[in-house]
Amino acid sequence: MDRIQKLLGYVIAVVASLLVLVCRLALSDVLERQAELLPFVLAVTAAAWWGGLLPGLCATVLSVLLGIYFIIPPPNQLQIQALADGLNAGIFVIVGTTISLLCEALHASRRRETESQFRTLADSIPQLVWMARPDGERFWFNKRWYDYTGTTFERVKGFGWQALRDPEELPEICESWNRAVKAGNEWEQTIRLRRKDGEMRWNIVRAVPVKNARGEVECWFGTNTDIQDRIEIEHALKNADSCKDQFLATLAHELRNPLASISNAVQLWPAVRNDPDEVRHIWHIMERQVRQMSRLIDDLLDVSRITRGQITLLPQPVDAAFLINAAVETVQPLMTDLRQRLTVTLPDEPLFINGDVARLTQVFSNILNNSAKYTGQNGEISIHVSRDDDKVVFKFRDNGPGIPAHMLEKIFEMFCQVDDTLGRSCGGLGIGLTLVKRFVDLHGGTVVAHSEGVGKGSEFVVTLPMLHAPYQDRRSDHSEQTSEHSRPVPAHRVLIVDDDLETAEMLAKLLRSRRWDATALGDGFTALEWIRARRPDVVFLDIGMPGISGYEVARKLREDEDLEETFLVALTGYGQPDDLRLAREAGFNLHLTKPVRLSSLDDLLFKLPVGRMSIHSGAV
Ligand code: ADP
Repeated sequence: MDRIQKLLGYVIAVVASLLVLVCRLALSDVLERQAELLPFVLAVTAAAWWGGLLPGLCATVLSVLLGIYFIIPPPNQLQIQALADGLNAGIFVIVGTTISLLCEALHASRRRETESQFRTLADSIPQLVWMARPDGERFWFNKRWYDYTGTTFERVKGFGWQALRDPEELPEICESWNRAVKAGNEWEQTIRLRRKDGEMRWNIVRAVPVKNARGEVECWFGTNTDIQDRIEIEHALKNADSCKDQFLATLAHELRNPLASISNAVQLWPAVRNDPDEVRHIWHIMERQVRQMSRLIDDLLDVSRITRGQITLLPQPVDAAFLINAAVETVQPLMTDLRQRLTVTLPDEPLFINGDVARLTQVFSNILNNSAKYTGQNGEISIHVSRDDDKVVFKFRDNGPGIPAHMLEKIFEMFCQVDDTLGRSCGGLGIGLTLVKRFVDLHGGTVVAHSEGVGKGSEFVVTLPMLHAPYQDRRSDHSEQTSEHSRPVPAHRVLIVDDDLETAEMLAKLLRSRRWDATALGDGFTALEWIRARRPDVVFLDIGMPGISGYEVARKLREDEDLEETFLVALTGYGQPDDLRLAREAGFNLHLTKPVRLSSLDDLLFKLPVGRMSIHSGAV
């Protein structure tokens, strides 16, 4: 109990006894010789209630003395009266002592209750709580402390806790703690504390002095808060933030370059349009730059789809050789520009994989494209495909700049480039290999990079599970697909509807160049009339159109029984799960996110009619 409170107890003992005395004296004419000591019980109770046992006893003794001196008349010749007065005083002392003892017990039980509430509270909070004496010696720890550190009271009491600190940091911690103890100031420090598994984890330690009325420290109340996870998250966020900044800078750079070339070509066009050689040259530049931009945007969209878990594979048996041919075809122009030599070794037998042709082609062309762009002029690149038990192994080797050992795994992380200036100058965002890894993982395969060091070339090895017969005869199917113009085009009538008529017309023109009967329209109402009159087989509908939305057009078309077989494709910039659901509800067969690859649209049209396909998000 606080000393002041005790002192106040004694003051109350004296004041209350005197007060009772004055009152009793004032009433002495009325009471005469009755209740001489009884009123003093009030003074005893007040003193004991406030100050506990000792002030209560003090009030008892004082009351008896005051009563004997001022109230009880001096003993006369009557022995019996003297005896009765003595007995009265004795009983009063017993009653006073009992009241004092009861009040003290009450105080003690209150203290115990408060203490137990405090311990329950301290045990239930996630922090480690401790208490220390004024000199800094710790005398109590909560349960969490023992659970966290795996120690016992015997080992950490006093100054034993110091063994859990980093020995190198300890002198500094002790010095700062001693300073706080001396000054009686609040203490806060970030320290490392050993957890029971041996890990040193960052903690914030705070200690608050509990002071009495005279400003003296009675004890210290301290907490340790584990901030290791927070520090790690902060670190990861900072990293992600700097990666994001770097990525944005790279993206701006990557987009600006092809844009600058295209813009120059457009400005040059009027001056050279009558010179066929120049026109061909400019067209070649624009085509290359547009292809580069589309690749970047496609990769970005794929990253976003992967992050949102929206990649759906469309697996089918495919020959390894077909995939390699497709990848080589994509990268060939770059390799020709750089005068590189490519050696391809394919197995004698067809090796089949159950894979998504578009995605696997993307995987191999990404790796091959990297080999070409990083190896530079006159480089040598080789591709080797073989069988290893029930796996198909693809090896891409080049004699380019190589990859330092510590980066061999990291390069598969998002936005990671060995040398960002080199990556940038070669046209990259640092996401190609991330996509490669994710797609290979989705196919149940592995991809690893090898390099003997800087300047010693690189090798990328992709391993995919092999698909056994009965697909052996499919090789010819795919080799046929390599020559697109030789496959017969089904007689589909295709309509493209987009409020950006120029885009729709461009796509229609491209499809027509692939021998599809394609028409473009710029609004939903005209499209409805056109569809009802001409009954196209496939309709690509933009969603956000003024006047009537793509959803509305689809709903109206689905009301018409004659148009039940029309294959409706939502072709939109929105690709959230909700957009997919809305498209399904409106009656679309397929949902595609812009931009779409022409080759994939082409493939889609070749596959139709296949009956009504169920709605899914296509990644074409
Ligand atoms: P980027 O768009 O930068 O090419 P990638 O994810 O495709 O991104 O590749 C990540 C990094 O891996 C590249 O920036 C480059 O530093 C390194 N890298 C990839 N392939 C090769 C290679 N064949 N030779 C040397 N370095 C390579």
